[in-house]
Amino acid sequence: MAEQADGKGAGDDQFDLVILGGGSGGYAAAFRAAQLGMSVALVEKDKLGGTCLHRGCIPTKALLHAAEVADSARHSEQFGVKATLDSVDVPAVNKYRDGVVGRLYKGLQGLAKANKVTLVEGEGRLVEPHVVEVAGRRLTAATVILATGSTSRTLPGLELGGRVLTSDTALSLDHVPDKVVILGGGVIGVEFASVWKSFGTDVTIVEALPHLVPAEDEACSKAFERAYRKRGINFSLGVRFKEVSQDENGVHVTLEDGKTFDADYLLVAVGRGPVTSGMGFEEAGVTMERGFVVTDERLRTSVEGVYAVGDIVPGLQLAHRGFAQGIFVAEELAGLGPVPVVDSAVPRVTYSEPEVSSVGLTEKQAKEQWGDDAVATYEYNLAGNGKSQILGTAGFIKLVRRVDGPLVGIHAVGSRMGEQIGEAQLIVNWEAFPEEVAQLVHAHPTQNEAMGEAHLALAGKPLHSHG
Ligand SMILES: Cc1cc2nc3c(=O)[nH]c(=O)nc-3n(C[C@H](O)[C@H](O)[C@H](O)COP(=O)(O)OP(=O)(O)OC[C@H]3O[C@@H](n4cnc5c(N)ncnc54)[C@H](O)[C@@H]3O)c2cc1C
Repeated sequence: MAEQADGKGAGDDQFDLVILGGGSGGYAAAFRAAQLGMSVALVEKDKLGGTCLHRGCIPTKALLHAAEVADSARHSEQFGVKATLDSVDVPAVNKYRDGVVGRLYKGLQGLAKANKVTLVEGEGRLVEPHVVEVAGRRLTAATVILATGSTSRTLPGLELGGRVLTSDTALSLDHVPDKVVILGGGVIGVEFASVWKSFGTDVTIVEALPHLVPAEDEACSKAFERAYRKRGINFSLGVRFKEVSQDENGVHVTLEDGKTFDADYLLVAVGRGPVTSGMGFEEAGVTMERGFVVTDERLRTSVEGVYAVGDIVPGLQLAHRGFAQGIFVAEELAGLGPVPVVDSAVPRVTYSEPEVSSVGLTEKQAKEQWGDDAVATYEYNLAGNGKSQILGTAGFIKLVRRVDGPLVGIHAVGSRMGEQIGEAQLIVNWEAFPEEVAQLVHAHPTQNEAMGEAHLALAGKPLHSHG
């Protein structure tokens, strides 16, 4: 192909923007850039929507909803209703789940069309800083966004396959296992633990760190552990996995302290690694670190005109962070000067029964930053919240503020506490003072009222709590 003065081949497909990867980060960038008048090619080797829509956020939340329905039937007598749980029909649950995913997938394809984004199917490779090649087709653009996402990680020597599952293969099971060991007590591990326990599986989680959901404020982790213990979910903390063997009957897991577990399956949920190898990033001059793409806060890589968004950028691996980064880059390219996406401002939810949600700094992080005396905290117990009593959930909302200053962290544990993160993130990101939030009226009786009550108490005027 003839080279032009700008280095592009004469027959190249030219766009303003080429995006490699159509997951949360990639498609958000594509839609926003197209809305801002750019011509956009979005390259996807599998399905538009990526991990979140097809193997992550959405299918797992559908399973959690089915799990909640099972628990409602199982515990119905507690509310004076006599229902019985006959069984969980996993193929039917999967059909419901796939229906949800299918409708959203269709909607997303419609949005790509409506936004006039050119979808290019196939595996792309960055062959030059501004050229992506897909099955011999060269797509050139002034700007390229790398958004190739992440995949399940494993431990050295721990081979995946057969009865050793990843979250992907766990989603394709067509039955309720009798017994499962889950390696990793982070968000994905506890999510599957919650679903399986509700479906009737005997679950044991193995976590090398001292707590479940170890990234959360320690008070939340401890409350979460109490709730899991009460649910009969077993866990082994602070001890490392040693080895696993498998045969036609199941898996045999050994920990470093000598403990052994037999189960039907081992789910490996030890984190997710970037999908970046063999795609030409390093050859094009992009600086990498442990497989992740290094960017500055404006998501620029080391190569001019090449950006990266989503799970391949070190930090929180969350769909909404990817969406926000995608929108950020599109607006940056359009010259709108958007505000960078800062991880500490990104809300986090652990979906489970109970849920954990948080935004901003933990108590420990705040004290490390400003000193013990410069940080004040308050825990509002959900026992004093009418709607939580109605639901029968325990937990709390914990506020972390700078003394005489704004809220810097909000943490919650309890059923449906993920729904409270919307207001919490406004409070923390707008740097509100508890006294200001205390002026806002929260509807009664809602769980959201607990957010108001916590701030009333921290502002020195408790109503349904002891100051
Ligand atoms: C079980 C599970 C549950 C989760 N639940 C949540 C949740 O509840 N909330 C939340 O916020 N996050 C959740 N996540 C995380 C979330 O899914 C990710 O943070 C998000 O999908 C990252 O988006 P991304 O665009 O960076 O990458 P991805 O969604 O992984 O998309 C990358 C895309 O790039 C494509 N691709 C890769 N290489 C190429 C190539 N060479 N050519 C063409 N295409 C390529 C892939 O096929 C893929 O579609 C969950 C993840 C898992 C696994």
